[in-house]
Amino acid sequence: MKKVNNNIINVIGAGLAGSECAYQLAKRGYKVNLYEMKPKKMSPAHELEDFCELVCSNSLKNANVTNACGLLKAEMRKMDSITMLTADECAVPAGSALAVDREVYAKAVTDKLKAHENITIINEEVTDLSTIEGIKVVATGPLTSDGMQDYLKAEIDEFLYFYDAASPIVSADSIDFDRAFFGDRYGKGDADYLNCTMRKDEYMEFFENLIAGETVILKDFEKKEIFEGCMPIEVMASRGIDTMRFGPLKPVGLTDSGERYYAVLQLRSENADKTLFNLVGFQTNLKFGEQKRIFSMIPALKNAEFVRYGVMHRNTFVNSPKVLNAGCQYKKDENIYFAGQITGVEGYVESALSGLYTALQIDYFLKNGKLNSMNSKTMTGALVNYIQVTNSKFQPMNANFGILDTAEFTFRIKNKMERYQGYADRALLEIDDVITSFEGEK
Ligand SMILES: Cc1cc2nc3c(=O)[nH]c(=O)nc-3n(C[C@H](O)[C@H](O)[C@H](O)COP(=O)(O)OP(=O)(O)OC[C@H]3O[C@@H](n4cnc5c(N)ncnc54)[C@H](O)[C@@H]3O)c2cc1C
Repeated sequence: MKKVNNNIINVIGAGLAGSECAYQLAKRGYKVNLYEMKPKKMSPAHELEDFCELVCSNSLKNANVTNACGLLKAEMRKMDSITMLTADECAVPAGSALAVDREVYAKAVTDKLKAHENITIINEEVTDLSTIEGIKVVATGPLTSDGMQDYLKAEIDEFLYFYDAASPIVSADSIDFDRAFFGDRYGKGDADYLNCTMRKDEYMEFFENLIAGETVILKDFEKKEIFEGCMPIEVMASRGIDTMRFGPLKPVGLTDSGERYYAVLQLRSENADKTLFNLVGFQTNLKFGEQKRIFSMIPALKNAEFVRYGVMHRNTFVNSPKVLNAGCQYKKDENIYFAGQITGVEGYVESALSGLYTALQIDYFLKNGKLNSMNSKTMTGALVNYIQVTNSKFQPMNANFGILDTAEFTFRIKNKMERYQGYADRALLEIDDVITSFEGEK
């Protein structure tokens, strides 16, 4: 592989994160080598030759700023995000969501990157970072090629994980606490779990709907890799009417003031503030709409707000809190950065934001000799700070209001939409300060 000049920044992977990162660096005057293995080598999910490919849904989620992902998009537009501004140009009607024509979108981003005078495209798979001189940004995504994975595993050792399932996450303020109580099995432990109770008739209705629920059709590679180690809840349910009651819905040892239940789902807090809860053992391959419909049959979740749906796919990411500094800079080598889903953010928009953020940090580091920090009052800050928090069970996270610093809002504004509008108004002012902190006063 060819050696490159030390003054050039090498971005590896031209997906959502790599495209955004390369653009942000190039517009700041850096010469960028953008490495992409497509179309010579395609991951199991990528199909297009162009960059910035949306591998599954064509939706970039909700467009309103009262939604966390909508707010993140709005913040990114203020930061001149190529991926979001181009998405607006390629939008197709999708109700309250921002959806794009996938092919038009990928081509539009690709054309802009190829036309940029500071960007050189190198059509290669990178499998060894030591063969490239200068700063390197690893943005190879959840389906990082095997060659690069092997390299990273050897380099980063135990810090690179394979992750194949995620349970849904709900916001604490949407749970009905009349049907849930805190407590550990047999009263042991620190009452860390929130137990959602079900009576027999409720369980039966839930079971019937679950086994008939509509699932996402798995790609061949997923079928091969998932079912060996991790069973989706709907597959477990299909094995017998009581199977779940011996697994994630086991009621024994979970009583509330002496009352016993037919089935109990345990929720585990996802963050220190206990604003988010994970449906333990409910990794699933159900379609998102079906997750909402069927899991909301659990009485405590009847009005639950799903901040992240369960997903099942191969997912490679580094243990960011352990191996990366702020700015997604590799702790052992200040010339190596990470961006995108490989840092533990999840979703198209979040991955693009990660690419943008890493570019800002590289620019800041080169100018100031240190990394910048930001508070969690913007969705941008909340997300990048989340993946730096030391967490023994680090799991990917997408944009949601549960990770935002909302201390000044929680008790003063009771109406949820008003509160979300308040978060958005503040964040869209705050993001100007974030931009100034990275760029300096103009
Ligand atoms: C099957 C599947 C379905 C998904 N569905 C959704 C969804 O519906 N909605 C959603 O928001 N998110 C979805 N995601 C998550 C989505 O992949 C990420 O949110 C997003 O695409 C990640 O962006 P990224 O830039 O980190 O990686 P990617 O967009 O995957 O980009 C990585 C790029 O790096 C290239 N590459 C990989 N290895 C090398 C190498 N060694 N050398 C050079 N180039 C390399 C790849 O070809 C690719 O172009 C899905 C993920 C998967 C795997």
